[in-house]
Amino acid sequence: MAGISASSAEGLYDEFVKAGLLITAGPVGAFARGAVFEQVLEAFDALILRIADHEQVETMTFPPVIDRAIIERTGYMESFPNLCGAIHSFAGSDREARAIPTRIAEGQAWGDLLSPTDVVLTPAACYPFYPTCRGTVPANGREVTLRSWVYRQEPSIEPTRMRAFRMREVVRIGAPDTVLAWRDQWRDRGLAILRSLDLPAELDIAADPFFGRAGKMLAAGQIEQKLKFEVLIPILPALPPTACASFNYHQDKFGTIFGIRLLSGETAHSACLGFGLERTVMALFRTHGVDPAHWPATVRALLWP
Ligand code: AMP
Ligand code: ZN
Repeated sequence: MAGISASSAEGLYDEFVKAGLLITAGPVGAFARGAVFEQVLEAFDALILRIADHEQVETMTFPPVIDRAIIERTGYMESFPNLCGAIHSFAGSDREARAIPTRIAEGQAWGDLLSPTDVVLTPAACYPFYPTCRGTVPANGREVTLRSWVYRQEPSIEPTRMRAFRMREVVRIGAPDTVLAWRDQWRDRGLAILRSLDLPAELDIAADPFFGRAGKMLAAGQIEQKLKFEVLIPILPALPPTACASFNYHQDKFGTIFGIRLLSGETAHSACLGFGLERTVMALFRTHGVDPAHWPATVRALLWP
């Protein structure tokens, strides 16, 4: 079964819409997903969970908003101020409130009438987990899987670059060598999972899109120390392949910020992996065609065992 052959970002988006996989919903990068798209997304997520599942793995579900203090303490606003979606609301008087509909009716901006709340939209599924680990972790550390809607302010016509999307993460906390070995094991496993779905996946060293001039130095350091790997799949032919999964070693960053310690009293290290669920689903449709009924039998068997 041939995949979709659209050559531009708009062309691919249009193909997805024509097939009912996506539904235009207004803001760029915030389209809706159709039923078949969701069936594949749930099947892929279940496949990861079957592989990630063992006795020690905990499951947690956080809402798609997190404490503003977490964003402040982790340095997110130094590294990614341009990606953050902060939540504002109205907190004034009755009289002041009347200015809002008036401004709206006049077609004027009204954002300055709102004030920041104590929450921001979650930028990565793992962020809210670390503060819950404060104190001493069990002898073998912690391993948890989380799935969340996350937000990044990066509007784009590329269907693969969304503002709101879902991430399946697995996070490991423990001693440095344990965590690094875990990250490497999952990096290879993540690549194998995507290749088992007949996707043309390749592994590469990567860096986060740190903001500004100082960000370039951070990215260079990240690459030099091999802290981040990504599995890339060609989805948009005119553009470099798209990162569908990431594997990150944070060293003692979160352990230090949130006071997470090993039994020995040393600061715990952490690593996480994140599958971009929508991106992987798009890679599947792109590669195998818009109708999952016609996908290769081996791929179907993995997704729908
Ligand atoms: P990151 O935390 O940046 O490593 O992202 C984890 C995973 O989320 C990536 O490997 C992508 O698959 C996915 N992802 C990142 N940014 C976006 C985006 N703007 N739209 C859709 N998926 C994304
Ligand atoms: Zn993470």
